[in-house]
Amino acid sequence: MTDSNCLFCKIIAGEIPSAKVYENEYVYAFKDINPQAPVHILVIPREHITSAAVINSDNSVWVSRCYEAIAEIAKQENLVGGFRVVSNAGADAGQTVFHLHFHILAGERLSDHMA
Ligand code: 5GP
Ligand code: ZN
Repeated sequence: MTDSNCLFCKIIAGEIPSAKVYENEYVYAFKDINPQAPVHILVIPREHITSAAVINSDNSVWVSRCYEAIAEIAKQENLVGGFRVVSNAGADAGQTVFHLHFHILAGERLSDHMA
């Protein structure tokens, strides 16, 4: 399912340009437009799911698919020093796009503070 008003559904559809990093049947990954680390990649499922707050036993396979892609991307992008995965859900976390996404942050020693 897609949502015609959703920015990330439009990116998946190619209606809004993005810098593709990786894609497969289930997942699309692209560079964040406002990077917060030397490597900042967004990994999104092709299914419109609003956030981590609505994951359940019917849709959690999309989370697995994203994490399988994350491991592939880490190899492809040679993130040998490590990486951090972040998924903001809701107002207190500062979620701005309501299509489930995982930030991959890497390329430098990341902050010891996660919040
Ligand atoms: P959130 O704050 O919801 O966790 O993350 C949304 C992310 O999407 C932000 O890091 C923001 O920079 C990124 N973003 C917003 N609009 C666009 C866009 O049009 N293209 C790309 N590549 N990234 C975007
Ligand atoms: Zn969407």
